[in-house]
Amino acid sequence: MECISCEKETIDGTKFPCPKCKKELFRCDKCRNLSIEYKCECGFKGP
Ligand SMILES: [Zn+2]
Ligand SMILES: [Zn+2]
Repeated sequence: MECISCEKETIDGTKFPCPKCKKELFRCDKCRNLSIEYKCECGFKGP
């Protein structure tokens, strides 16, 4: 899976639905722990 924050390919991470459009997103554990901002293709930005 590709992390939505750092765009690196990794298997260590979490899938979650975008709060706005419900598209499934993936963020690696590192970005999740650091609360790196992500941006969904629908325009939603989250911590
Ligand atoms: Zn990441
Ligand atoms: Zn979205």
